[in-house]
Amino acid sequence: MSEAIFGGPALPQQRHLATEIPGPVSRERFARRQRLVAGGVGTTLPVFVEAAGGGVLRDVDGNVLIDLASGIAVTGVGNAAPEVAERVAAQVRAFTHTCFMVTPYDGYVDVCERLAELTPGDHAKKSVLLNSGAEAVENAVKIARVHTGRNAVVVFDHAYHGRTNLTMAMTAKNMPYKQGFGPFAGEIYRAPNSYPFREVGEVSGAEAAERAIDQIEKQVGAANVACVVIEPILGEGGFVVPAEGFLPRLAAWARDNGVVFVADEIQTGFCRTGDWFACDHEGVVPDLITTAKGIAGGLPLASVTGRADIMDAVHVGGLGGTYGGNPIACAAALGAMEIMRKQDLNSAARRLGQLMLSRLREIAAAHPTIGDIRGRGAMIAIELVGADGRTPDAARAATVSTYCHSRGVVTLTCGTYGNVLRFLPPLVIPEDLLTEAMEVLGDAFTATA
Ligand code: PMP
Repeated sequence: MSEAIFGGPALPQQRHLATEIPGPVSRERFARRQRLVAGGVGTTLPVFVEAAGGGVLRDVDGNVLIDLASGIAVTGVGNAAPEVAERVAAQVRAFTHTCFMVTPYDGYVDVCERLAELTPGDHAKKSVLLNSGAEAVENAVKIARVHTGRNAVVVFDHAYHGRTNLTMAMTAKNMPYKQGFGPFAGEIYRAPNSYPFREVGEVSGAEAAERAIDQIEKQVGAANVACVVIEPILGEGGFVVPAEGFLPRLAAWARDNGVVFVADEIQTGFCRTGDWFACDHEGVVPDLITTAKGIAGGLPLASVTGRADIMDAVHVGGLGGTYGGNPIACAAALGAMEIMRKQDLNSAARRLGQLMLSRLREIAAAHPTIGDIRGRGAMIAIELVGADGRTPDAARAATVSTYCHSRGVVTLTCGTYGNVLRFLPPLVIPEDLLTEAMEVLGDAFTATA
C-alpha cells in the first residue's frame, strides 16, 4: 500500500461502501484470524480496521463505516485524537515504562489529581491506577474489605463487572460470561435492581431501593456488608436507567450502615452521559468510583478513586501491579481529559442524545417492536419486544443490527435478554453522520419488519 494510513479527525467524515460488508480483503483476513485466535474470543462485525477517527472507521477494503460503538464506550474523544496521539508519541520517546512501584513519574500523579477534581464530591480523594475495568472493580472490593473488616459484597440484577474470577461472580448474566468458568468467588450477594420498563406496575426509585435494602438486611445483614457495587446506569445489562431516587436512597443506606458505596462508572464515565459521571445527575457521591474505558482515548487504563481515608486503609504494598498506570496510558488520559474539558464533551453528549432520542421516537412510532427508549446523554438504547409489548425479541435485535452492519453502521446489542440495541457514538461525531446512522437504523426496521 503506497498511501500513508492516518486516522483521527482528518479522516473524511463520510460513510462509504466500496464493497459488500465484510469485503473480500476482510474475509481473507478473518479466515486467518480464525486459524490463529482462540475460539472463545467473539467478533461483532468481521471487518478489519486500518484507520479511524471522528465518527468513522475505515476498513481494509476501503469501506468507511459510521461508528456507533466507540470500541464499547472507549473512544469518546475520538479515535486517534491528535491530543492523545501526540502526548502518547512524546511519552514513548521519553520512556515507556519504569513500573510506578519501582520508580514513580509525574503522569500517574497528574492523572490521580485530575480524577480527584473530576469525580463526584469535594472531599479529600486518592486513586490507584490499573489496567482494566475488571481489575479496578477487584481492587475496589479489596479496599472496601480492608477498610470495613467485612466480607460480603452486594451486587445487582443485570450487573456486568468483568471477566476475572471475582468480577464474573459479580456479573449477573451466565451466557457467555460465566458458563463453565466456575467455581466463582464467594461472599457475593445479588439484590434486585430498578428496571422501570420491566417492573410489574409502577415502582418508584425509593420503593425499588427499599426492596433491595430489605433483601440485603434479611439475607446478608448490613453489619456483614463491606460494599455495594452498582452501575448507576447498567452497561452490558441493557442501558437501564434506574428510577429517580433509587441511587440516592441506596447511597444513604450504605452511609448509615458503614457500607462502602462503590459506583462502577467504567461504561458511564467521562462525559458519556452528559455529565462527567452518571452519579452527578442525582448528586450521588460514591465512596469509591471505578473508571476505565473512556478515561484514556483508547489506551488501557483504569482507576479506583475515593475517600482518602478508605483508600488509605490498605497496607503499603497491598495494591499495585506491573503495568497499572503505565506512563503511556497516563499521557493518553491527560490528553483525553483535556479534550473533554476544552471541547465541552458533556454538552456534546447531551446534544447527540437529543438527536438520537428524537429520531428513535419517530422510528418507534412506526415500529411497535421498540418497547422502550432509554439512556442518558450519548448512551442511548432501545429494547425490542414481541407483539405483547413485553416478551424480549433478541432475534429482531440481531437482524436489525446485522442490517446496519451491512449498510456501514457499527451497532452493538446488549441486555440480559440480548434484545437491546445500544448506541455509543464517539462524542466528537459530526451530527450529520449521526443523523445518517439513525436513517440507516430506520431503514433496518422497515427492511426486517
Ligand atoms: N464494569 C462495567 C460497568 C463495564 O461496562 C465493563 C466493561 N464492559 C467492566 C466493568 C469491565 O471492564 P474491562 O473490560 O476493561 O475489564
